[in-house]
Amino acid sequence: MNYTDLANIIFPNAKEISYYEEKYPKRNLKEGAIVTRFAPSPTGFVHIGGLYQGLIARKLADQTEGVFFLRIEDTDQKREVENGISGIVEALKEFDIEPDEGMINESEEKGNYGPYKQSERKEIYEAYAKYLIMQGKAYPCFCTPEEVEEIRTKQEAAQIRPGYYGVWAKCRNITVEEAIKRIQAGEKYIVRFKSPGREDRKIKHHDVIKGNVDFPENDQDIVIIKADGLPTYHFAHAVDDHLMGTTHVIRGDEWLSSVPLHLQLFQELGFKPPKYAHIAPIMKNDEGNKRKLSKRKDPEAAVSYYAQEGIPERAVKEYLLNIANSSFENWRRANTDKPMEEFELQLSKMSVSGALFDMVKLLDVSKTVISKMTAEEIYEKSFEWAKKYDEELATLLKDKSYAIKVFSIERGNKKPRKDISKWADVKENISYMYDVEYEKDTRPYEYQLIQDKETIHKIVKTYLEKYYDDKDDKQTWFDKIKELAGEMGYAKEVKEYKANPENYPGHVGDISTVLRVSLTKRANTPDLYEIMQVLGKDRIAKRYEKIR
Ligand code: GLU
Repeated sequence: MNYTDLANIIFPNAKEISYYEEKYPKRNLKEGAIVTRFAPSPTGFVHIGGLYQGLIARKLADQTEGVFFLRIEDTDQKREVENGISGIVEALKEFDIEPDEGMINESEEKGNYGPYKQSERKEIYEAYAKYLIMQGKAYPCFCTPEEVEEIRTKQEAAQIRPGYYGVWAKCRNITVEEAIKRIQAGEKYIVRFKSPGREDRKIKHHDVIKGNVDFPENDQDIVIIKADGLPTYHFAHAVDDHLMGTTHVIRGDEWLSSVPLHLQLFQELGFKPPKYAHIAPIMKNDEGNKRKLSKRKDPEAAVSYYAQEGIPERAVKEYLLNIANSSFENWRRANTDKPMEEFELQLSKMSVSGALFDMVKLLDVSKTVISKMTAEEIYEKSFEWAKKYDEELATLLKDKSYAIKVFSIERGNKKPRKDISKWADVKENISYMYDVEYEKDTRPYEYQLIQDKETIHKIVKTYLEKYYDDKDDKQTWFDKIKELAGEMGYAKEVKEYKANPENYPGHVGDISTVLRVSLTKRANTPDLYEIMQVLGKDRIAKRYEKIR
């Protein structure tokens, strides 16, 4: 009886690994091409940190003419939820981070290196586990969960490093004969890796992000095939990333300490290890304490939050690039009109410790992103958003051609307005351009220098009767406001007023403020000329009649 007999008894139907090695040939890509992946569990929740990883992986594959694929890691079936895969696929799609290969919905996939869902790869893992058993590098372990717990309790009591290793690995030295006998007698077992490592030896490792790190060797005989027949993450990672041709494993840094184990698995399986890039988590400043963005405590940890708030996907992506490489900000300043896709991301320049998530900064990025959109684009996007989240706004936006006129005010020029940071801002931002909303607004008019109602009435009346003509171009329009200022005894030019302030009650700016506030109830609006053009003479007259 030898290891091969034992392997055949445990996995009688498993294929030889050469079958899979041939089925998944080396990828034919150009030198330096990065093959990488996003490998979430289908828990139904997409964390902003997951999107961040997906964005980085997609970008690196794009920059090197490589491949980005989506693998679903569903070997922990307790954590699964319904439609967990499509939730992930949809979230990536919304952000325009589409994988070249992998799952495309709940059950379908594309690409030649699949299946891309781990629960469908059972026979592949069995083949590689069998291969290890045949070489005496893995073995059946008959310890019950209670026995494993007992070992841990003893180790704790004796203050010894916990785990299944060395003398504590009870089943490691069971003979092949005994193992076969116990299996044939129907005893339950799992499969463990027989680690060749020693805790007192060190390994040196270079992580693409974290740099050089030293670790003790792994000496734990970890489980590779669980009682349910599925692999553990560690084993599946080695087998999958080998067969799928992954060159760079980009993942959360909670896995950094598993690197010694993973390198050992690659070594014992005879695989070339990938490069590892461990990303620090996105952090939050919580009353002075830096902590990870938490799914439980922080609404902004969920990718769905941004859609609800109406923060455009492009803004979120740009902001994430800001977090990924601090050089992005300078690049953006120097290349205001280039698409962010042209920025060259460098893994080696990512921060080693977690970057702080800053909502104010994100909204600022978002303002700039929105300012570069056309009025049509803003219309389409805010209308889409409103239909889901704000019925009143959706009603206002029904008249498309009017809405586009409103959104066109001070847009499409060199310095477009930057006053919308998310679609949830739109209603407040444009409400005065809609008579229903304007009338609903019972807040006091924001008059400035000129507060006296009689003067105000006189200004708007004179303006309408003598000066306003909707055919005027902007210069003529403004010249007429100057005329009006003169007629009212105010300085026609600010300069004049500044030279002799005692001669005037105010200047042309104060007059136009009256015209603005009387028309919109607000002191701050975009260009008054354009607002008047959009409202038109009748509506202007009506509003001026009603001023309070
Ligand atoms: N399923 C693992 C996780 O969600 C993937 C880690 C990896 O990318 O290898 O943490």
